[in-house]
Amino acid sequence: MTEYPHLLTPLDLGHVVLPNRVLMGSMHTGLEETRDWNRVAEFYALRARGGVGLMVTGGMAPNAEGGVFPGAAGLFSGDDIANHRHVTDRVHDAGGRIAMQILHAGRYAYTRECVAPSAVKSPISPFRPRALDSAGIEKQISDIVTAAVRAREAGYDGVEVMGSEGYFLNQFLVTHTNRRTDQWGGPFENRMRLPVEVVRRVRAAVGADFIVIYRLSMIDLIPEGQTWDEVLTLARAIEAAGASMLNTGIGWHEARVPTIATSVPRAAFSWVTGKLMGEVAIPVITSNRINTPEVGEQILAEGCADMVSMARPFLADPDFVAKARAGRAREIAPCIACNQACLDHTFSGKISSCLVNPRACFETELVVSPAQAPRKIAVVGAGPAGLAAALTAAEAGHRVTLFDKDSRVGGQLNMARKVPGKEEFHGLVEWYETMLAGSGIAVRLGQTATRDMLRGFDEVIIATGVLPRDPAIPGQEGPNVVNYIDVLRGGADVGARVAIVGAGGIGFDVAEYLAQAGDSPTLNLNDWLSEWGIGDPAETRGGLRPEGPQPEAPARQITLLQRRAEKLGKRLGKTTGWIHRATLQMKGVQMIGGVNYERIDRDGLHITHGKARENPQVIACDTVVLCAGQVSERSLADDLAAAGIAHHVIGGADVATELDAKRAIDQGMRLAATL
Ligand code: NAP
Ligand code: SF4
Repeated sequence: MTEYPHLLTPLDLGHVVLPNRVLMGSMHTGLEETRDWNRVAEFYALRARGGVGLMVTGGMAPNAEGGVFPGAAGLFSGDDIANHRHVTDRVHDAGGRIAMQILHAGRYAYTRECVAPSAVKSPISPFRPRALDSAGIEKQISDIVTAAVRAREAGYDGVEVMGSEGYFLNQFLVTHTNRRTDQWGGPFENRMRLPVEVVRRVRAAVGADFIVIYRLSMIDLIPEGQTWDEVLTLARAIEAAGASMLNTGIGWHEARVPTIATSVPRAAFSWVTGKLMGEVAIPVITSNRINTPEVGEQILAEGCADMVSMARPFLADPDFVAKARAGRAREIAPCIACNQACLDHTFSGKISSCLVNPRACFETELVVSPAQAPRKIAVVGAGPAGLAAALTAAEAGHRVTLFDKDSRVGGQLNMARKVPGKEEFHGLVEWYETMLAGSGIAVRLGQTATRDMLRGFDEVIIATGVLPRDPAIPGQEGPNVVNYIDVLRGGADVGARVAIVGAGGIGFDVAEYLAQAGDSPTLNLNDWLSEWGIGDPAETRGGLRPEGPQPEAPARQITLLQRRAEKLGKRLGKTTGWIHRATLQMKGVQMIGGVNYERIDRDGLHITHGKARENPQVIACDTVVLCAGQVSERSLADDLAAAGIAHHVIGGADVATELDAKRAIDQGMRLAATL
C-alpha cells in the first residue's frame, strides 16, 4: 500500500494512460541551445527512468519573432526534427512520455522584432513590440500550428501551448496589453479569440490521439488582469476547442508578487486551480511551490487538481517519483526553491543546474564512477561543501570519515533555516542527515579534527568554512555590538532599534529575521496572501487586492548599511533579490549605501557619507549587528601544509568571497568525483 494513493493513480486521457499524476513542468534549461542532443536526451531520459508521468520540455519558439531571446530553440527545419527525435526516442526507450511546450513570448521576446496585440512595452523589457495586423496574427497562428505538427513528427506525445505568465496568448486576454478594436480586441469574447483559435487549429492539425495541454493563466496578478468569470469562460472555450488538459499558470512575469520563490508557502496557489475543478470535464493540473510527494498527495486528496506539476524538484532529484513509489520519500533531494542555480542561471544566459544537485543538466559531464581502488578519505567540516564531498566519495565506493566540531551537520545552512521565508533549509539539512545515515560514512560530530587525527588517510579534504570578517570599527567591542552568528545561532538579545553593518546576503537575512514579529508568513498562507495583497480573482480583477500589500508591523526599527555607493541588494540573486528588497521596504527598513563607519558608542553607529567622509550622522540604535562578510577558516589547512600532509581545500575555506551553498556543493561534488 503506497503512502501516495492519489499521486500514484494512473490518469486515463483516452488514447494514452499516464502512469501517475505527476507532471514535470516546463523549464528553460538552456540545454537545447547547446545543440548537444545527446546531453539533452540524457537529461530527459534520466527523468523518464525516474518514473514521472509526463514531462514537458522547455519552451520552443514557433518562429524567430516569438523566441524568448534571439536564437532560442525551436523546430524550424528537418534537422531540428531529427534532433528532437533523438530525444523523444531516448525518452520512450526509458518508458517515459514527453510533450513539447510551444512558447511564443510576444512582447516578452528579448528582441527589437518582438510582436504583440498592441504596441505596449512591458516593464521588464527594453523593447516596444510591434502591433500585429490581421495578416500578422494569422501568421502567428499558422506558425504555432506548424510547430505542433512538427512536434508530432519529432515523436513527442503531445504539446503544451503556453498561454500564461504574460506571454503572447496571455497578452491578448487583458486590456492592459490588448488595446485593439478589431475582432482580436475589445470585449472578452474577442480578446480570447486568439488562444481558442490556436487550440482549435492545433487540435485539427495533430489529430485526436495527441496530448494538447493548454497553460492557462488563472490569476494574472497584474492591474487590469482577468476576472474569474473571464478565466472560466476561457477555460470552457479551450476545452471545447479540443485541449486534453488545462495546466495552471500563476502571475505574469512582470507581477510584483513572488510566485515560486522559497518564501512563497508550499502549494500557495493550489486553491486557485481548485476553483476550476468541476467547471470543466478535462483534467486540471496545478503548479507552483509543490516540492514533496506529501504536498502533491494532499492537493489531489483535497480535490484541488487532477494532476500536479513540479518543475524544479526534477532538477533536484530525477528519481522523485520512483523514490516516492518505493517508500523512500525521505531520500528525495529537496528543491529549496532558491532559484540560485536554475532560474538565476537562465536569466544570466547560463545553463541551468541545481544548487542541491549539480549534476542536473550536467549528466553527461559530472559522472560519479565506481572507484577502481577504494581509498580512505577524511572530510573535515560538515557544511554544504564537506557534505557534498563526503556523500559523493562514499557513492563512488570510498571509505569516508566526516568530522565536524558542531553537534549537527549543515554548517551555515543551520543559520539560513532560522530566517523567515527560508524554512526549506530545514528539509535540506534533514535530507543530508538521511543520506549520511544510509551512506556508510563514519560521522564524527562534536570532534575538532587535528593534524594528528588526519594522518593515515589517503585523501584529506578540508571544508572548514568561514569566520566572520572583522570590520575593525572603533567601539565594536562594546556591549551593544553583536555579529550575525550571535543573532542567528546564539539568540543574542537585540534591542528595538538596530543598525546592521553590511548588506550582503547575510545582512538582508538578519534584517528579515529581526523585522519579523510573529511567525513567518511563509508558514501561514492567509498571512502571506495578505502581506503581498493577493486576493480571490473571483472578487478582485487579476487577484490583486485593491488595498494592496498589508504587511505585518515590523518588530524593530532597522537601518541596513553598506559602504558601496550602489543600490542595496544589487548583488543578491537575479530572480529573488527584488523580493528581499520589497520585503524589507514593506517592513520600513531604511537602506543606506555609500557610508563610512566612524565609530560605535552608546548613542549608536556614527557614520559619514562618501569618499570625502562628509555629513556626519548618528544612526541611533540599541544594537549594532555586524554582517561584514567572511574570511576563510584555514587554520587546519595551514597546519597540514606546515606538516607536509597533502590535502584539498574546498568551499568557504578555499574562497570566502561571495561564497554560497551553490558553489560549495558544486566544488565538493566535483572534487570527490575525481578522487
Ligand atoms: P557578502 O555578500 O560578501 O556581503 C558582505 C557585506 O559586508 C557587504 O555588504 C559588504 O559591503 C560588507 N563589508 C565587506 N567588508 C567590510 C568591512 N571591512 N567593513 C564593513 N563592511 C564590510 O557576504 P555575506 O552577507 O556574509 O554573505 C555571504 C554569502 O552568503 C553571500 O555571498 C551569498 O552568496 C550567501 N547568502 C546569500 C543570501 C541570499 O541570497 N539571500 C543570503 C545569505 C547568504 P561593503 O563592502 O559595500 O560595505
Ligand atoms: Fe530548486 Fe534551488 Fe535547485 Fe533551482 S537551484 S532546482 S530552486 S534547489
